[in-house]
Amino acid sequence: MIPNPDTYCEIDPSAVDQWGIPVLRFHYRWSENDIKMAKDMQETFEQIILAGGGEPLKSPSPPDRPYQLNRPGEVLHELGTVRMGDKPRTSALNGFCQAHEVKNLFVMDGACFVSNPDKNPTLTILALAWRASDYLLEEARKGNL
Ligand SMILES: Cc1cc2nc3c(=O)[nH]c(=O)nc-3n(C[C@H](O)[C@H](O)[C@H](O)COP(=O)(O)OP(=O)(O)OC[C@H]3O[C@@H](n4cnc5c(N)ncnc54)[C@H](O)[C@@H]3O)c2cc1C
Repeated sequence: MIPNPDTYCEIDPSAVDQWGIPVLRFHYRWSENDIKMAKDMQETFEQIILAGGGEPLKSPSPPDRPYQLNRPGEVLHELGTVRMGDKPRTSALNGFCQAHEVKNLFVMDGACFVSNPDKNPTLTILALAWRASDYLLEEARKGNL
């Protein structure tokens, strides 16, 4: 998905986990682009299968899942719940995964992503964590944390 303003998470006002900590709740809306990409992918696969002499298996899409799109949470590369950015108004972390509002809080995982890079995220998570760790160490040495 390309990020859009209707797709976000927030602290659930009532639900808590088994330790009484409020959980996140998620909102999402597929954009026209997301739906068109799913359509294009299915049509392309269909053409490839037909060209190879195969018969594409088809099952009807549920009304809430055009072109069999997976609901968020059903796929494996969910990213970006604590996005990074320059502005505290639109992001929680700076470019070093450090919270704008809490200087000694760093979030070094997939949460800092601002969009899904399409490819597998783990190496980018590691690279960002490495960069953030260098910064953290330097800031700690300077007594800034
Ligand atoms: C089946 C599968 C296959 C994948 N294959 C690939 C692949 O081949 N290549 C690739 O690049 N990516 C792959 N991914 C994606 C990759 O694993 C994730 O993007 C990555 O692990 C995300 O890292 P993370 O640190 O952000 O989150 P996670 O690895 O999910 O870590 C979150 C941690 O927080 C802990 N936690 C949650 N809630 C609490 C709490 N309240 N208190 C304390 N701890 C808590 C969890 O136990 C967990 O240890 C795959 C994912 C899945 C599920």
